[in-house]
Amino acid sequence: MAKKILVLGEIKDNSLRNVSFEAITAAKKAADGGEVVGVLFGENLDEHAQNMIQYGADRILLVEREELAQYTTDAYSQAFLQVYEQEKPEGIVLAHTSSGKDLAPRLAAKLNTGLVSDVVAIEEGHENPVFIRPIYSGKAFEKKTIKDGLVFLTIRPNNIAALENDLSRTGDVTAIDIELKDLRTIIKEVVKKTAGGVDLAEANIIVAGGRGVKSAEGFTPLEELADVLGAAVGASRGACDAEYCEYSLQIGQTGKVVTPDLYIAAGISGAIQHLAGMSNAKVIVAINKDPEAPIFDVADYGIVGDLFEIIPMLTEECKKV
Ligand code: FAD
Repeated sequence: MAKKILVLGEIKDNSLRNVSFEAITAAKKAADGGEVVGVLFGENLDEHAQNMIQYGADRILLVEREELAQYTTDAYSQAFLQVYEQEKPEGIVLAHTSSGKDLAPRLAAKLNTGLVSDVVAIEEGHENPVFIRPIYSGKAFEKKTIKDGLVFLTIRPNNIAALENDLSRTGDVTAIDIELKDLRTIIKEVVKKTAGGVDLAEANIIVAGGRGVKSAEGFTPLEELADVLGAAVGASRGACDAEYCEYSLQIGQTGKVVTPDLYIAAGISGAIQHLAGMSNAKVIVAINKDPEAPIFDVADYGIVGDLFEIIPMLTEECKKV
């Protein structure tokens, strides 16, 4: 049955995150020929609305409010529930990002509905689409279908390919009013700890360091390689706990879940909790001086040796390409 599906676009640093376009693809698959309606919160949204249409949304609803310029649980859930009431959709797709992971369960509880979170693939061609999600820290996958009720999904970034953007697509863009009451949190200013860099969750290439880097300075060769490759720098919890880097870089079960095309793990042993965050990377390269390190069990390419010798050599070779 054709469905109307709402997709919340996620804006970061004045750009729509790529996962918003991937969410549109997911919504199209779940809509079964129905309508995909993009929803945007914040300020100066017109360009983002056109972007969502070019990537496959049929129409867009804008809520232009200063209080929605930064994500807060309170404001976003109030706003989204009002959009939901106005539209009465049969489905919702959010990104499985830190804000999506915060918002989706709250909305599901308020709407008294289920939620299929962290979807990495959607199989069509069945009576109802089949949603595939990892379980047991990525060791297995489960398949879910929703036979009745709201189709509510969050999708993991970098897994469901966005459509090609089509500059000729057009669609209605409507500004709507909502009421925000008794907000407990208002973000006045965002002060960033690190400027620039590639967003870890959406990076195509990640160079990650573990306790084997031995110090904060030990990350420098990894950062140099990342610079040359246009990659993001990540870390194991071992490296974060040892204060070699910020926890914002942590990848794994209790850190970020990433699916880059290339993951270079340097000085990381490959504990199950780390693998939970990166084992779905398309190509894994492990550099470790211990040939028995479990990271080699998941690696496509393994280099046994000292990362402080190998990483600079890789950097020099990559500079030549
Ligand atoms: P280690 O296990 O100490 O490995 C360091 C590696 O570096 C070794 O294999 C060593 O051979 C190699 N090495 C040393 N020197 C060099 C060198 N010069 N060149 C090359 N290789 C070298 N961990 C995560 O990463 N992410 C998580 O989200 C996470 N969540 C957790 C949640 C729970 C509930 C628990 C209990 C643990 C969690 N952990 C997580 C911790 C996890 O169990 C491991 O302790 C951690 O991943 C180890 O980090 P590491 O591989 O950097 O360190």
